[in-house]
Amino acid sequence: MSLSLLTRTSAVLCALALANCATNPVTGNPNFVTMSESQEVSTGRSEDQKVREQYGTYDDPVLQRYVNDIGQRLAKASHRSSLQYQFLVLDSPQVNAFALPGGYIYITRGILAYLNSEAELAAVLGHEIGHVTARHSVQQLSAATAANIGASVLQIFVPQIRNSAGDALISTLGGALLSGYGREHELEADRLGAEYLARTGYDPQAMIKVVGVLKDQEQFDAEMAKAEGREARAYHGLFASHPDNDTRLQEVVREAAKFKSAENRVNREPFMRSMDHMIFSDSPAQGFVRSNSFYHPNLGLTLNFPAGWRIQNNAQNVAAASPEQNALIDLRSAGRAEGSPGDVLRKLLKLGAGSTVTPQTLGGLQAAVTEATLSGKPTRIAVVFLGSSAYTIGVQAKDAAAYSQHKAVMDAAMNSFHAMTAQERALAKPLRLRVITAKAGQTFAALARTSPLGRFAENHLRVINGLYPSGEPVAGQSLKIVE
Ligand SMILES: [Zn+2]
Repeated sequence: MSLSLLTRTSAVLCALALANCATNPVTGNPNFVTMSESQEVSTGRSEDQKVREQYGTYDDPVLQRYVNDIGQRLAKASHRSSLQYQFLVLDSPQVNAFALPGGYIYITRGILAYLNSEAELAAVLGHEIGHVTARHSVQQLSAATAANIGASVLQIFVPQIRNSAGDALISTLGGALLSGYGREHELEADRLGAEYLARTGYDPQAMIKVVGVLKDQEQFDAEMAKAEGREARAYHGLFASHPDNDTRLQEVVREAAKFKSAENRVNREPFMRSMDHMIFSDSPAQGFVRSNSFYHPNLGLTLNFPAGWRIQNNAQNVAAASPEQNALIDLRSAGRAEGSPGDVLRKLLKLGAGSTVTPQTLGGLQAAVTEATLSGKPTRIAVVFLGSSAYTIGVQAKDAAAYSQHKAVMDAAMNSFHAMTAQERALAKPLRLRVITAKAGQTFAALARTSPLGRFAENHLRVINGLYPSGEPVAGQSLKIVE
C-alpha cells in the first residue's frame, strides 16, 4: 500500500489505520499499513450501524436469509474463515456491493435485479469477501467514509455538534459514493472471489459472467443517464474493458479452476424465484428523486430541488449540494408537530428569546423560519407541519457571497415543499420484478410495449436478464419483467 493512499484518507480514519506488521492472510507477506484484526472488526461494527441507517435494510427476511446463507458458505471457504461475516441486502436502487473492514458485506437490491443466477450472486459476494480477506483495509475505508456522509449531514443543523460537518458533506458529495479500489485490488478480489466460488462448488466462470452483466448494465445506464441528463451508476469493481477482452481477468479466473469440484453449480432457478416480487428501482419507504424533485409517498411530501444540484437521499434526510459545492439544502423529519412550528424551531436550534422566528406558510402549510449563522455559514431554517409530523428544511452556503449567489433557487426549493398531490401519488407506485416463463416467439420488444420502464424498456429488460444488447427470450426460460 502506498503512502499516497494513506494521505488521501481522512485524519480520523488514518488514526484508525495504525501501522501494524500483521501478516496478510492471502499472500502470507507482512502487511505494513493495516489495522489489527480487532480494530478492523470494531471499525466495521460501528460503521455497520451507519450503513444500515443510511441505506435501510431491505424488508424481506426470506431474501436476506438466502443471500446470507450463500455468503456464509463462501466465507467458510475463504482465507479468513474465522471472522464473523454479515451479508446484508440494502434497500437501495443503486447498483452496488461493498465491504467494510471486519467482514461486513452489503449488496443492494439494485444490483440483485441485474443478476441471473446464484453463481453470479456468489461471484459478487465472493469478490467482496476477497477485499476483506486480502485486507484492502485502507481502500475499504473509502466505503466507511462514504457511509459517514449520512452521519455528517445529520449533524449540520444540530447546533451543538455543527463543527465542520457541513464542509464534510460538501467535500464528499462531489466524489463518487464509493470510489474504486484500484485495478490491482479489484483484480485480486476477482481472483479470490473465483477461488471461493470454485471451493464451494460454484462455476468460477460466473465471475466473468457477472462482470460482463454489470459492464452491460453500466453501458446501458450510461446511455440512459445521458438521455436523462443525470449521473450514471456503476459498480466499483468495473474497469474500462469488457471481460471478454480482459485477458488478465480471464487469466485470474482460469487459475481458480484448480480448486474446482465436480459440482460446478450455476443454480439459476432458485435465484430467479428469490427475485419474484422484489422492489425494482425506487422505494416508497425511502422516497426518491425524479427530475430533481423529491417524493416520499409514505410521508406524503414533495420538495423540488434546484436544477443541476446533486441530490443524495439518505435514510434520515435528503440533501442537495450546488454544482459548485458551496451551498446545500437539507430536508429531514423533526419529530411530531407539537405546539407551533415556531416552538419546534426554537427548541430544535435552542434559540434564545432574542432571536427572530417568523411564522409563514410553505406550500399552504403552517411553518416558521429563522436565519442564523452556523459555524460562520449563513443559514436559513424552516420548520413546517404536515399532518402530525414536523419537518425541517435548511439551506446553507459556505459564505455570504455563495449565499447570495444561490438565494433565489434555495428559497424557491424551500417554498416548493408541499403535500403530495393525488397525481404525484399515482406516479409514485413502486415497481416490482415479476418472474415469468417465456412463451414461444415472445420478444423483448413485445414485453416492452406493456412495461412501465418507459422508452428504454426493451433494452432495460434485456440488461436485467443478461441478454443485452441483442438477445431474445428462449421459450421456457424464466425471465424477469417489471410491473
Ligand atoms: Zn471491488
